[in-house]
Amino acid sequence: MDHVGDQVETALPDSDKRVDVDVAVVGAGPAGLYAAYCAGFRGLSCAVVDSLPHPGGQISALYPEKNIYDVAGHAVVRGRELVDNLVRQVAPFEPHYLLGTTATSLTPSQEAGWTIELDGGGRIHAQAVVIAAGLGRSTPRTLDCLRPYEGRGVAYHVPRLEEHRGRDVVIVGGGDSAVDWALALAPLARCVTVVHRRSEFRAHPHSVKQMYAADIRVLTDARVTECNGAGRLEDIRIRAGDEEMKLPAQALVAALGFITNLGPIGGWGLTVENHRIVVDRAMRTNLPRVYAVGDICHYEGRVPLISVGFGDAATAANHAAVDLRPGSRLAPEHSTDRDTALLP
Ligand SMILES: Cc1cc2nc3c(=O)[nH]c(=O)nc-3n(C[C@H](O)[C@H](O)[C@H](O)COP(=O)(O)OP(=O)(O)OC[C@H]3O[C@@H](n4cnc5c(N)ncnc54)[C@H](O)[C@@H]3O)c2cc1C
Repeated sequence: MDHVGDQVETALPDSDKRVDVDVAVVGAGPAGLYAAYCAGFRGLSCAVVDSLPHPGGQISALYPEKNIYDVAGHAVVRGRELVDNLVRQVAPFEPHYLLGTTATSLTPSQEAGWTIELDGGGRIHAQAVVIAAGLGRSTPRTLDCLRPYEGRGVAYHVPRLEEHRGRDVVIVGGGDSAVDWALALAPLARCVTVVHRRSEFRAHPHSVKQMYAADIRVLTDARVTECNGAGRLEDIRIRAGDEEMKLPAQALVAALGFITNLGPIGGWGLTVENHRIVVDRAMRTNLPRVYAVGDICHYEGRVPLISVGFGDAATAANHAAVDLRPGSRLAPEHSTDRDTALLP
């Protein structure tokens, strides 16, 4: 399969239609996918909405090919593999995926519960909402000369290493992403050049050392001044000190970081601190039956890690189950009691 989570079927409602579920999850990153699983385990129907066309949040968008070493129970797991497993784990509960669409507004519905409007039309009606929106809206930093070639050779991340096989690839930036991608692409690209405007790299010193030792051309105190090509990117011009040079480039990856903000969620009436949604120990926000989990939420001492997001998700979904079905137990039954019935 080409993309992470390609097995997911997404069906956007027509502009005048609505999806009715017990729980709407905003964000299909690891925390959102696991919240959907935990809600399904409690017998709650679920819709998962994400602006991106694929599930997996930051993992799918920024590092699908990287190994992750600190997820409990996995000595090592590749990003795309973790996402595929999360999608597979929730599949028996048949969540309604609404991908490639942004949740724009949250308003109390005329009946009990909440209505979420989706950009491009359609809405979700849910008894409870779990916001798992991670960094919120993130916009890649760029350079003016790159914009005309966006999607035509210029990209802001590397969803599939393979597509760069045999290409001349230029990577712009000096942080971890720039150096990691350079190292990952070096064995399969025809030529990898890293262009960084400073003399020192911000990336981890060990990776920087590996980059200098690898078959990678490194240009420091340098900047891209021009992109050229008929239709697609073919070559670029670089100024390095007093020197001007022209390099062939069928691909340029700008790893210059992202500008993030809450996006539409900022207008939903939630209590926010430092761009994060404030929650209590049950992951409840200030709005009734609206919870927040993962990197978007804030409580004292929270650590922004995938494993912590999983814990948030389990807490939120089980509290939602009690809030929606008063009298039910907070602790779910043990999954071991279900045997293999939960495998797709
Ligand atoms: C390069 C890199 C390496 C990392 N390595 C590790 C690691 O080794 N271990 C680790 O634990 N963590 C790591 N992290 C951090 C980890 O990826 C995050 O903590 C994790 O992805 C947060 O998960 P999340 O589900 O809370 O949010 P995200 O993964 O950010 O997903 C949130 C989703 O919500 C969507 N969204 C936002 N607003 C809306 C809206 N209004 N409507 C619809 N959708 C919306 C976004 O499109 C996004 O897909 C790394 C991060 C980076 C960038």
